[in-house]
Amino acid sequence: MTADLVLVTGATGFIAKHCIAELLRAGYAVRGTVRSVARRGEVEAALRQAGIADPEIEVVEADLLRDDGWPAATRGCRYVLHVASPFPSGEPSDADQLIRPARDGALRVVRAAASNGVERIVQTSSVAAIMMCPKAHHLPRTEEDWTDVDNPDVGSYARSKTLAERAAWDAIGEMGDAAPAFCTVNPGVVLGPALDKDLSTSHVLIRLLGRGVYPALPKVAFPVVDVRDVARQHVTAMTHPDAAGSRWLACNGTLSLRDIGRVIVDALPDLERKVPTIELPSAMVRLASHFDRNLKSIRADLGRANLCDNSKTVNKLGIEFRSADEAVSSAAKSLRELGII
Ligand code: NDP
Repeated sequence: MTADLVLVTGATGFIAKHCIAELLRAGYAVRGTVRSVARRGEVEAALRQAGIADPEIEVVEADLLRDDGWPAATRGCRYVLHVASPFPSGEPSDADQLIRPARDGALRVVRAAASNGVERIVQTSSVAAIMMCPKAHHLPRTEEDWTDVDNPDVGSYARSKTLAERAAWDAIGEMGDAAPAFCTVNPGVVLGPALDKDLSTSHVLIRLLGRGVYPALPKVAFPVVDVRDVARQHVTAMTHPDAAGSRWLACNGTLSLRDIGRVIVDALPDLERKVPTIELPSAMVRLASHFDRNLKSIRADLGRANLCDNSKTVNKLGIEFRSADEAVSSAAKSLRELGII
């Protein structure tokens, strides 16, 4: 019997590489999109690092900003994991640099998948599309909540993820009965083991803390999740009979930056003198965010508890999440093994 073919978009990405490893372990055939096929060897090396001895995947070129590539990429696929989207560590000068590839790219993937008869699409959204909802005091956040993109404190990345998710749901709704089944996975800050030195923005945070780049920390806290559980959740959501038509949070606890620093030091005690422990007053950070574009992306999070409820994912999809501490600790140890911190 031929294995079902799954398209994973953005195969060079941190989460996508873990998803591909999970799919190969489960016996699926995988096609990955990349912006340049020259990066194929890099993806295969990361898969070997994830324990896949002989990674066999097909690699094709497609860019979220262009139409060409997507019809061929989705042809013959039973499922699509749409993971690709820009996730920069700073705030861009123009929000469209993120919104266009995120939103228009999601539409390209959804439309190409629909025209090729794909059965189900799982889109990687984010807690960023949930947390900054107008109900400031309603905690924990759930899959019912949506970030308010008109709030001026919401940064470009959160706007791009919210608009991309909304656009995909709307497109699926407009297709009616002809639409593929669709669902989203909405992860918190994704940590866990890095497979190579091409760091995701979430690992850049661990690198910055571990190298002692900042003397003090803003008072912000984020839901955290381990990448191995996020990958399993994508693969589960791809076929689970109850997953279609829903959003699924991926998180297991909320950690402040100071908490994350504490776990890094527990994992790598020699970093104790480097990892900052002092928290800055939020009023000072808020003021600075008007002059420092990169601080704008955390303005909406300053002083917020940012709790979210994973019970729907745990109870209905049966995902057993590793602890947030384990996600941070394994991330820090993997960066040490890679010689980064
Ligand atoms: P990475 O930066 O590691 O991966 C992003 C991927 O998107 C890369 O493969 C990148 O390709 C691809 N990409 C970016 N722009 C384009 C484009 N114009 N056309 C085609 N591909 C493009 O990030 P992560 O793995 O961490 O993130 C993956 C997904 O998960 C994103 O959707 C992100 O928003 C979401 N997410 C991540 C979280 C985290 O903490 N890491 C938390 C919540 C959600 P290339 O290598 O060529 O740049």
